[in-house]
Amino acid sequence: MTIYTGPVFEMARTQFAIIADHLEIPHDERARLLYPKRAITVSVPIHMDDGRTEVFQGYRVQHHLTLGPTKGGTRFSPDLDIGEVAALAIWMSWKCALAGLPYGGAKGGVACNPRTLSMRELEAVSRRYMQEMIPFVSPQTDVMAPDMGTNEQVMAWFMDTYSVHQGHAVTEIVTGKPVAIGGTVGRREATGRGVAYLVGRACDTIGLKSQNATAIVQGFGNVGSVAAYTLAARHGLTITGVSDHTAAYYDPAGLDIAAIEKHVAANVTLAGYSAEAAIDPAELLLQPCDVLVPAALERVITADNAARIRCRILAEGANGPTTPDADAILDQRNDEIFIIPDILANAGGVIVSYFEWVQDLQQLFWSETEVNTRLETLLEGAYQQVARRARADGVSNRTAAMAIGVEKVRAGKRLRGLFP
Ligand code: NAD
Repeated sequence: MTIYTGPVFEMARTQFAIIADHLEIPHDERARLLYPKRAITVSVPIHMDDGRTEVFQGYRVQHHLTLGPTKGGTRFSPDLDIGEVAALAIWMSWKCALAGLPYGGAKGGVACNPRTLSMRELEAVSRRYMQEMIPFVSPQTDVMAPDMGTNEQVMAWFMDTYSVHQGHAVTEIVTGKPVAIGGTVGRREATGRGVAYLVGRACDTIGLKSQNATAIVQGFGNVGSVAAYTLAARHGLTITGVSDHTAAYYDPAGLDIAAIEKHVAANVTLAGYSAEAAIDPAELLLQPCDVLVPAALERVITADNAARIRCRILAEGANGPTTPDADAILDQRNDEIFIIPDILANAGGVIVSYFEWVQDLQQLFWSETEVNTRLETLLEGAYQQVARRARADGVSNRTAAMAIGVEKVRAGKRLRGLFP
């Protein structure tokens, strides 16, 4: 029996079972590795602008505390539930371990639609959520960050709420905050930059010239927009497709990313950018391209479309974009499609969050060049570990990446022992 239910948690559980079988982990050790240490559910009541009181549900799941504090993003999304949050926390654990960060995974969020809240209501939800979480978080136990539906401003409200409670500024309680209040340069761009760096490495691996390559990016938020921009500006790819929750565009001759960014800066979403390039969002993922970057939601590459995606590199900017059923199909297409699995592809975000936490603890701040150089060093190390492991074990990149992550957490638990 578990409180963690739903399709996203089932995905995390199925993936873990595959890895546990591969590593031949005894059955009595598995639950200790998979199930979260703590799950917190809170009611978040706020005054709405129209005078009503509305109560939102807030969650935080801390997966394991074996290697240090937990670390993970905060998601504001209407259908959020505890199973989804737990799955994301579990994936964070394997991701942090793969990158060699001294963290367990966590995730949290509020079941609300930030797009329909006014700025004042969003601030109220953010502050009240953090207020409710104060007994359960600290820079030594659990450090929050942004995720879908939250941003630097939300992190600033979190940090302020926690700091007011402590009586002094505690910048290290959250990462992904504005640089002016202890954030690090390069954090906002880190996840997308990391995706682009690893796509560059994958191009080298499969012998694809990035200057001649095309890319389609699903999601044009923090991760997707920076990934698209960096792939084009730094690696010379032509971006042929982009989408968000309002629109999808495809042009085999290439889209003008600078013009699209301008449009989003002025209009918030992609809607209304172009009538000629508009395409059915479900069709976008099926268009031929060299690099496909899902950077929006989980479970978008499924058993229904996995046989029909036409890319050479699948770079998973989003968490959990590929279901285990789809994975089984993609495994058969191993020679055609090189997968950079989510826990590697989007690790740039938590790596630079780690840099931010370290800088805040030391009150010693780095230049953007130093941040980016260290980011690439850690990503390169993780990429090479995954490539070596996939070759040595004859498994997919996803199995290799997760096996490394699970093994590190398992080794930590074994060394520390079981109390009492
Ligand atoms: P965001 O809120 O900034 O952007 C999400 C984007 O996805 C928006 O453009 C939204 O319109 C789009 N979107 C939503 N539903 C869509 C749909 N059905 N079709 C197409 N687009 C859709 O969020 P983000 O921070 O960019 O996160 C995106 C993904 O990356 C999530 O899976 C998140 O967990 C993961 N991720 C984020 C970070 C980070 O640092 N922000 C780090 C690691 C992983």
